[in-house]
Amino acid sequence: MTDSAKDQNPTQQVEAASKAFEQEFERFVRFTGDANDLAGMTLEQAVAEERELTELRTRHLGKKSALASTKKLIGRVPAEERASFGQLVQTSEAAVISSVEAAAQALKQFIEAQRTASESIDVTLPGRRPRTGHRHPITLLRERIEDIFVSLGYAIEDGREIETDFYNFTALNIPDNHPARGTQDTFYTTDGFALRSQTSTVQIHAMQRRGVPIRMIAPGRVFRRDTPDPTHNPMFFQVEGLCVDRGITMAHLKGTVGEFLRRMFGPDTVTRFRPSYFPFTEPSAEFDLSCFKCKGAGCRICKNSGWIELGGSGMVHPNVLRTVGVDPQEYSGFAFGLGIDRMVALMYNLDDIRLLFENDVRFLEQFE
Ligand SMILES: [Zn+2]
Repeated sequence: MTDSAKDQNPTQQVEAASKAFEQEFERFVRFTGDANDLAGMTLEQAVAEERELTELRTRHLGKKSALASTKKLIGRVPAEERASFGQLVQTSEAAVISSVEAAAQALKQFIEAQRTASESIDVTLPGRRPRTGHRHPITLLRERIEDIFVSLGYAIEDGREIETDFYNFTALNIPDNHPARGTQDTFYTTDGFALRSQTSTVQIHAMQRRGVPIRMIAPGRVFRRDTPDPTHNPMFFQVEGLCVDRGITMAHLKGTVGEFLRRMFGPDTVTRFRPSYFPFTEPSAEFDLSCFKCKGAGCRICKNSGWIELGGSGMVHPNVLRTVGVDPQEYSGFAFGLGIDRMVALMYNLDDIRLLFENDVRFLEQFE
């Protein structure tokens, strides 16, 4: 209460409070009349007005309002005037309440109508067809590879992605000091388990579980500590193949890989083996196929060489067979592996392998 308010008698104070309200309420008066006065307003403006009206209501009807404090003056009014003073306070308060209510009601109706209009649905419109999903290009290719090997009598094996040191390295004849065991190349969990760096781990599990003879492929995710670039990703898909039986030779390996690639890339596909080294095979060879685009003449895909490098292979190292309790004098076998992502990139002529994992639907929808 201001000093001047203290000088006023109770009746004057009630009148002053009413007057102050009317002055402030003036800008809301337009909402209490014809609803058309709201016509030009946007929903956002109406919501803002509604908020300001609520603040005004608190200022003039709340516990700390001037009008509320006039009720406490009733004791200072001479007894014979008390009834009429009480009446004055009540009428003034009722007037304030009804003004505020009228404006609030109009704003509320306007806001509701605007919201309903903007959210209304035209039920006569045809429905929107839900988008059907489809398989990822890597899955599509993996399934084609699986179909080919199943028809050649191979089983599909699945394996775990987190491995012990034994399965990821030792059983695969990878020596203790081999750089692949280092943390620069392999991801390790805090408990010292490795994220498998090749699907060859599945060979070991499969031979331990099923024994030999065995024919299996193991498609799956592997992890290496590579910085992502157009041709590398720290996570990618491989498919591993293994065949162990009596009398298996390098000729079986060449025949199987050749047949697989002919079914994959066409009957005139030529396969080439180049000597190489892997700890888990001896002898080892990398294999290339004649370019499916230019048929060997040279193009952008094969970098003008006519050949495409695809994977690694070899005869299973005797140490690997011994580790799973198979006698290398009695049994022999071959193994091979190739990258599925790399094959997808080749077949669809992708410039950047990372596109396969960015999950941009506009990109992925092209491979149905
Ligand atoms: Zn080519």
